[in-house]
Amino acid sequence: MGEIKKRQISEKDKNSTAKDSSDTLVKEGYITVVAGPCAIESRAQLDGIAALVKENGLKYLRGGAYKPRTSPYSFQGLERKGLEYIKEIGQKYDLKTVTEVTDADKASIVAEYVDVLQIGTRNMSNFALLKKVGKIANEMNKSVILKRGWGSTIKEWLLAVEYITSQGNAEVVLCERGIRTFEPYTRFTLDLSAVPVIKKLSKLPIIIDPSHAVGQSDLVIPMSRAAIAVGADGLIVEVHTDPGKALCDGQQALNAHQTREMLAQVEYIAKFFGRKIR
Ligand code: PEP
Ligand code: MN
Repeated sequence: MGEIKKRQISEKDKNSTAKDSSDTLVKEGYITVVAGPCAIESRAQLDGIAALVKENGLKYLRGGAYKPRTSPYSFQGLERKGLEYIKEIGQKYDLKTVTEVTDADKASIVAEYVDVLQIGTRNMSNFALLKKVGKIANEMNKSVILKRGWGSTIKEWLLAVEYITSQGNAEVVLCERGIRTFEPYTRFTLDLSAVPVIKKLSKLPIIIDPSHAVGQSDLVIPMSRAAIAVGADGLIVEVHTDPGKALCDGQQALNAHQTREMLAQVEYIAKFFGRKIR
């Protein structure tokens, strides 16, 4: 796959993260794989992971700056500094960037730094946040990833989309990331049937987050394969150059070798459907 191309960044580009309107997150004929760390930990950490993402021919880098952790004592993210790093490193490697917005008051600030605004599972029903993100995404030409609430039905999820789209016509991509069931072996239960159901009920694209669903890196590859086989338009996957040292979700992050392996396997299945990986 592609060599790392270090792009010469003009002053104009440095100050702009506006999305090229012809380039959407989900693209006909392609499987878009968004990859990166759970949390942005430092400039060096994100730089190394972005290099991995780029050398694998991918176009989208993820990384959390505001982390909605279950425990208030866990690492909460680098916040504004994290946003600065993802913008800088996205430009350095010519990668589009994805980060989560956790607070309506911060939506416009976050949108100044990244191309795609992610709404996490804990906020799928935070309707004030959905409306604000919808408005900002429309005004600033950003895409939105709306994760499914882990306790929400498909119908509730599709209604949540309308809080976003009622504010304009930003690109909205659904993300199934696992729901809570009685099974404790995996972190959540990946509801793969959501993909064909969404395809039946709506025209919205849908991607899969196998990482948060299974919570263990060795299970991420088989579920990534399954996601493509069932018709998902892409994946969002946690990857790390040193998962053992990750400040957040290291146990589910793919290392460099696993990342290459996952992409090779996913590419094989995507080919069957006439789709390329990007
Ligand atoms: C994430 O993608 O960083 C995240 C926190 O995911 P979720 O909202 O699905 O738990
Ligand atoms: Mn995570």
